[in-house]
Amino acid sequence: MAEVKLIGVWKQFGNFTAVKDMNLEIKHGEFMILLGPSGCGKTTTLRMIAGLEEPTKGQIYIGDKLVADPEKGILAPPKDRDIAMVFQSYALYPHMTVYDNIAFPLKLRKVPKQEIDRHVREVAEMLGLTELLKRKPRELSGGQRQRVALGRAIVRKPQVFLMDEPLSNLDAKLRVKMRAELKRLQRQLGVTTIYVTHDQVEAMTMGDRIAVINQGVLQQIGTPDEVYDRPANTFVGSFIGSPPMNFIDASIVEDERGVWADFGEFRLKLLDDQGEVLREKNLIGKEAIFGIRPEDIYDAMFAQIKIPGENMTRAMVEIIENLGSEKIVHLRVGDITFLGAFRSESKVKEGQEVDVVFDMRKAHVFDKGSGKAVF
Ligand code: ATP
Repeated sequence: MAEVKLIGVWKQFGNFTAVKDMNLEIKHGEFMILLGPSGCGKTTTLRMIAGLEEPTKGQIYIGDKLVADPEKGILAPPKDRDIAMVFQSYALYPHMTVYDNIAFPLKLRKVPKQEIDRHVREVAEMLGLTELLKRKPRELSGGQRQRVALGRAIVRKPQVFLMDEPLSNLDAKLRVKMRAELKRLQRQLGVTTIYVTHDQVEAMTMGDRIAVINQGVLQQIGTPDEVYDRPANTFVGSFIGSPPMNFIDASIVEDERGVWADFGEFRLKLLDDQGEVLREKNLIGKEAIFGIRPEDIYDAMFAQIKIPGENMTRAMVEIIENLGSEKIVHLRVGDITFLGAFRSESKVKEGQEVDVVFDMRKAHVFDKGSGKAVF
């Protein structure tokens, strides 16, 4: 049962296409993230689900209700969609207390006073706001204000939560804390949630699934592990993960020992099953893009499987960014540059050479033209 469904949804602003043929199914109780760079169309997608924007084409269902279909002239207003929205700017009523802010949507609906009181106290308890119910928004911290905004959304018991970067106005530390709180709360309430962000860490840590969007087009949809471990194309590979995946232009070649990614300056032997896939797809002798994440490149001192001439090369260390828990090492072989994320014990030094090992089990190959993943 899909709680929210988008079928072939387009949004055109004049000549500009903000959303192209979006197909999405969000399951009941799921925490779905819409992730992408600024201007990719994620807010527009959310606003179409909310009913704040009309799709140019396509259908949107909430539950089993068709809420938007321009061809049939259907466009349900936001109030008839059983949704609650939380935005980046939490827009609390400054003259009202926390209690009244949370109670507001119920008052609008003319819910009896006693029932309002019960709901408000229940929600305040859940969000740790009980002690603050008499305060005004200006007497609260940013995180507390954001929790009041959440409270106002929760109290309505909607079918779906729509959230647009609700944590982006908080400082870094509070954001991390609220991330966990929000996730816990969503699990507890079990309400289907669609959450827009451009922050891949937020997406990876909170989402049950992530829909990665670029230039109005859905690039991939999957669990955090799926989009991280098996990116559908170079865009997803580079957008998810920090530092991003390394991409190196390669020729795919075969000799009696196997199939290789040849970079000119050095080459890496692909695993047998990887070679088999490349052979099947007729990519032997072709140009391709080799991809590998920095954490899958090791200082040879700490590598488990090192086979000189197969998964190893000597590289110049140009810059080291010491993060404490690990070292981001900028490496160069001839004019090929890439990043390695070495463990903190690594003794590499800037300006010296180091043997580096590639974990070929984690290697990716992408089509040179389309950027689509072969594996
Ligand atoms: P951000 O993270 O910056 O909010 P986004 O992915 O949410 O970005 P949208 O707000 O969905 O992006 O906008 C997608 C594209 O559509 C942008 O290029 C934007 O300029 C354009 N756009 C959005 N609303 C309108 C509008 N009302 N009229 C014209 N263009 C618009």
